[in-house]
Amino acid sequence: MTDAPTMPADQATDRSHRAAKRYIYAFGGGRAEGDASMRDTLGGKGAGLAEMTNAGLPVPPGFTITTEACNDYFAAGERLPEGLWDDVLGAIRQIEAETGKGFGNTANPLLVSVRSGAKFSMPGMMDTVLNLGLNDETMEGLVALTGNDRFGWDAFRRFIQMFGRIVMEVDPKFFDEALDAAKEKRAVHQDTDLDADAMREIVGEFKQIVARETGRDFPTDPLEQLDLSIKAVFASWFGKRAHDYREYNKIAHDLGTAVNVVTMVFGNMGDDSGTGVAFTRDPNTGDKQLFGEYLTNAQGEDVVAGIRTPLAIAEMRSQMPEIYGQFEEIAGRLERHYRDMQDLEFTIERGRLYMLQTRSGKRTATAAVRIAAAMVDEGRITEHEALARIEPAHVDQLLRDQFDPAARQGATRLTAGLNASPGAAVGKAVFNADRAFEMAQQGEKVILVRIETSPDDFHGMAAAQGVLTARGGATSHAAVVARQIGKPCVAGCASLVIDYGTKSARVNGLGFSEGEWISLDGTTGEVFIGALPTTEARFEDQAELQKVLEWADRARRLQVWTNADKPEEAAMARRYGAQGIGLCRTEHMFREGERLDIVRDAILVAFQATRAKEKRAAGETLSEEDSQAINRFDEAMAKLEKLQQGDFEGILEAMDGLPVVVRLIDPPLHEFLPNHAEVLVDVTRMEATGVAKDDPRYVEARELLRAVEALKEQNPMLGLRGIRLGLMIPDLIKMQTRAILNAAIARKKAGGDPHPEIMIPLVGHVNELAATRTILDVEAKKVQEAAGLEVDFKFGTMIEVPRGALTADEIAPHAEFFSFGTNDLTQMAFGYSRDDAEGGFLLSYVERGILPANPFQTLDIAGVGQLVRTAVEKGRAVRPDLKIGVCGEHGGDPASIAFFEEVGLNYVSCSPYRVPVARLAAAQAALSGATERDR
Ligand code: PEP
Ligand code: MG
Repeated sequence: MTDAPTMPADQATDRSHRAAKRYIYAFGGGRAEGDASMRDTLGGKGAGLAEMTNAGLPVPPGFTITTEACNDYFAAGERLPEGLWDDVLGAIRQIEAETGKGFGNTANPLLVSVRSGAKFSMPGMMDTVLNLGLNDETMEGLVALTGNDRFGWDAFRRFIQMFGRIVMEVDPKFFDEALDAAKEKRAVHQDTDLDADAMREIVGEFKQIVARETGRDFPTDPLEQLDLSIKAVFASWFGKRAHDYREYNKIAHDLGTAVNVVTMVFGNMGDDSGTGVAFTRDPNTGDKQLFGEYLTNAQGEDVVAGIRTPLAIAEMRSQMPEIYGQFEEIAGRLERHYRDMQDLEFTIERGRLYMLQTRSGKRTATAAVRIAAAMVDEGRITEHEALARIEPAHVDQLLRDQFDPAARQGATRLTAGLNASPGAAVGKAVFNADRAFEMAQQGEKVILVRIETSPDDFHGMAAAQGVLTARGGATSHAAVVARQIGKPCVAGCASLVIDYGTKSARVNGLGFSEGEWISLDGTTGEVFIGALPTTEARFEDQAELQKVLEWADRARRLQVWTNADKPEEAAMARRYGAQGIGLCRTEHMFREGERLDIVRDAILVAFQATRAKEKRAAGETLSEEDSQAINRFDEAMAKLEKLQQGDFEGILEAMDGLPVVVRLIDPPLHEFLPNHAEVLVDVTRMEATGVAKDDPRYVEARELLRAVEALKEQNPMLGLRGIRLGLMIPDLIKMQTRAILNAAIARKKAGGDPHPEIMIPLVGHVNELAATRTILDVEAKKVQEAAGLEVDFKFGTMIEVPRGALTADEIAPHAEFFSFGTNDLTQMAFGYSRDDAEGGFLLSYVERGILPANPFQTLDIAGVGQLVRTAVEKGRAVRPDLKIGVCGEHGGDPASIAFFEEVGLNYVSCSPYRVPVARLAAAQAALSGATERDR
């Protein structure tokens, strides 16, 4: 095998076929008809088997039926395409020739495994059927050949059990119960303790179970067995769990699955046999060493099912030194060849090693980053390739919280299991996946606790904070899936006695029931009672992540800014790599401490004072009440101005040298006042209890009620907010302008380098912006003259009202920058209330596939995206140097970032924690855009 990236298929081999299309690609004897480049057709597993065969690795002969056959099977109404069966028979004859065995031959029986294999790995989509080809006669042949009765009967019972469950859809509990009863009867604990007679008896019982549950006898004809298995694999593509998995992972439903039919090799032929799975590097930590487990005298399912506890792969070095050496060498070659960490399956049959699978291994976030960085250092991949190997979600996970060390010291540690997927998870224990899903939908944090998980539990795992199982190892379903979806998982907690009936789990009298809080440490494998506090994951400590993100910075075009309202947030975002503040929501500061009272004071008289000032300007004499309103209003505004200036100074200091976009007040004013019903109850109660009309408490409550009622709107989000508010109460614009510019002046005087940008929200008509700018410019001039210092500030607007986007060419002459408020833009483009929709119909829409995704999370490119694209084009047409960013939630969403790259925004702005994620996503967007352009 070379270390070259691809090995071409033997183009000369054009297999003859009876079907209209070529549906079969065979491999064996050092030659394969397919290769690694054919994942679309052969699925990941089939492509890997072909590639390994071509490379001269020991792979048992077999063949792959293509994904196209699967699609044609469904297109024809679940019938095998004409001629395909003949081609299958031809391929079987070829295996017979290569192995010297015969399918259904009683003297030297050929047995095969049948497995699904889609283009993308889908753990547990369809389990493997092993030992296919067995019946009473071939079983006798197998016994005669091996001289091992127990082996023969065991192989047969496994086959009936698997085929019965997977192909004939018999409830597996019947088989488990029969097996448990047999062990109990003989007072033994392990399957391996059951002798040949016991296995023979079990085979008889299993056949009865099949007949009873399905109404037909277990099929004895190997060809019928094969036919039914192929169809079962096809059918599994549309099974619920495969469907759910694809939905979650955004895999297309029309890819279809391939079917792999491979000669059986037996890991359970004695102590010189065995089977295992291994990764070429540690998938948890990324350490460069073989990681995995194996079992002697066992078949593959024993390792995965966790029935016997497997040994660490390192043990093999002493147990089977020669095989270990050979395996290590093959693992190294496969990793170099695929230039990525591989997940390998192997079987040793009587001292001979066979490779059954190789694929890129699933890994934790830590491992993804470490492996990518290490492979660049080793000269195996380029920096750009490394960036493509890390998912934005991985970066997110690395910034996830851990348990607070002090709290952990004092916590009640219940037990420990395998540290299957790292991270800290806290939630209420739930013992059933459906229930976990339901509770999570209601906003609860849950931990899914299961004896072991199966693909049917996927939705519950995805909804949970973490997963805890009593059975299964590092390669069990729970472990593999949790790692992949980034959920902390503690697996194989053998001491934990889980009772689904009472919905509780116990270890030596201590334990928890459904709804009680537990905490899992997926990094150490510990389980704690109660909800432990967590601490921040420290970005500063993650040198490899920082290195990778520096590569991302070199590769990306989009800048990454942050949405921050406080100096601490700004400072943290800057440490995470933010290149500016794209949105400082000034009103967030209005709610802190004493400020709310000042804000309320201003609001109560805001309209009266504004009208009075207009009268004064027109030369009218003011009433005493009007004068008082002005005084009260100005006093409150002066206090606010001072506080705001302090805030802005802090933020400008934290972001010294970088742009800081400060948005003027946006929300409807009633948000700062108490709820209408509450105030009404207060006033009514005072009236009912005879409180005097001139009692100051009553006077105050009445005034508040009047104000709340005056500001009440049917649709406040479409009402008096954003730019409209500033135009109705111009003092708001003036006060905030003064606070921003005076803060910048103070910073300049202190030797700082402030870059304020003032942003106006919710513009729908150019005249709104022009009028606002006039007010603002007058004030800005006054401030600068008073200080005798110029401030270089920019003036811009949000584009978040559809009309604003559509008339961007009229607006751009008045704005030096645009920033898309995609939250409001989505709300108004769809006509969905952003405050209500997600609690109502929206998630159901997504579940039912009416919408492909939640548009408040991932930008709706077809609709909202069109408004964005139009605004960019129209804005830049009249103002080519227009700086454009986005500050809605979508600014931190990788899929949306790809679109923002495509339409040529200058920056995305997102919450501080998303900054590193956005840095990577922006690099990936730039790199994939480049590939696209090259094409
Ligand atoms: C937006 O609408 O996208 C936005 C950033 O503003 P807000 O969420 O504050 O309305
Ligand atoms: Mg908005």
